[in-house]
Amino acid sequence: MAKLKWGMIGGGQGSQIGPAHRLGALADGLFEMTAGALDVDPERGRAFAMSLGVAEDRAYANWQEMLEGERKRDDRVDLVTVATPNNTHFEITKAFLEAGFHVLCEKPMTMTVEEGEEIVRTARASGKVCAVNYCYSAYPMVRQMKAMVAAGEIGRVRSIVANFSHGHHAAGDDAENPRVRWRYDPAQAGISGQMADCGIHALHLATFITGDEIEKLSADFASTVEGRQLEDDAMVNFRMSGGTVGRLWSSSIALGRQHGLDIQIFGETGGFRWASEQPNQVYYHKLGGRVEIMEKGEAGLGEDAQRLSRVAIAHPEGFPLAVANIYVDLAARIAGKDEGNLPTAEDGLRSMASVYAAVASARDGSAWVDARPPMFR
Ligand code: NAD
Repeated sequence: MAKLKWGMIGGGQGSQIGPAHRLGALADGLFEMTAGALDVDPERGRAFAMSLGVAEDRAYANWQEMLEGERKRDDRVDLVTVATPNNTHFEITKAFLEAGFHVLCEKPMTMTVEEGEEIVRTARASGKVCAVNYCYSAYPMVRQMKAMVAAGEIGRVRSIVANFSHGHHAAGDDAENPRVRWRYDPAQAGISGQMADCGIHALHLATFITGDEIEKLSADFASTVEGRQLEDDAMVNFRMSGGTVGRLWSSSIALGRQHGLDIQIFGETGGFRWASEQPNQVYYHKLGGRVEIMEKGEAGLGEDAQRLSRVAIAHPEGFPLAVANIYVDLAARIAGKDEGNLPTAEDGLRSMASVYAAVASARDGSAWVDARPPMFR
């Protein structure tokens, strides 16, 4: 089967997420890197793209040039990944969808709920795949928890406790660091800092594993570093469509925590505990039994967990391969196969609605706010 042609916008040299996309997209021989506008600095971006093997005429100075260049080619790229700072996602994603390209957009998909709705409409009208990189949902053992919840193995889910709290923005001098600065600048990050940067990953996991929506929430936000315009610590209570009670703590000043994404799911007859820093294991407690550790690669796991596990039991299989799993499911969707677990524009929109609800709630003394996107109410 011919490889799909892949282009990337953002994710330049030294960026945080760029390497994970390159490792992920190229891991399974499904895509080849064909074009790129990788950096806000045109020359640096072109040089870096060529160093990765992109032909000189497809190493573009910026995304507009890439759009013009690729749309007129017979051998145009099939998929474009958008891995730039948040404030550029909407216009780039919309423009490429409208021009007939499949798009994988980084989270948060947009800066506003209205833009999120516009992307959902554009994707639906274009007939192209628009995925959002909620890559934690593609870890084999997260798929295992989802399959077991769907099979009723822990009964109705009563409660979820999720954290995405790290300490990497605890230093006040990070205003000097360009990779951190934009995350707290409303012009580049939007109305939310930590909640939009990390909290939405944990909320997506809650909806992904249960299959339920977040209906309403109540939030308390704080900017604990002096001078920071957006929140760096958020506590969110939420309620889901299946009646599940949810708690989320998301912080970027939590010194002592590294990556800090973990989730506990408590059902009527069983519970799970999973942490992204030990992604190969799920702690599983069946009512009346002992706590078991389920291990990626062991016999008896669900089909999806087995399909997305590449190396033998007990060997680490980390973040880039979770991103690779997003690309595997994307390639399947592009080929017209029903890959139901791929996070899409609808998920990106739901996240924006949660972020806006959380900001509104925090500004209104933690009042409960409807967290559903208007177009899905
Ligand atoms: P970063 O600041 O480390 O890197 C951004 C890169 O984009 C740089 O190479 C920069 O030169 C380039 N860039 C900026 N503007 C550009 C433009 N207009 N055209 C082309 N290139 C441009 O940021 P990052 O941490 O890599 O984050 C990028 C995006 O990825 C953000 O939206 C972020 O939220 C998301 N992200 C997602 C995950 C995840 O787990 N899914 C993890 C980290 C970051």
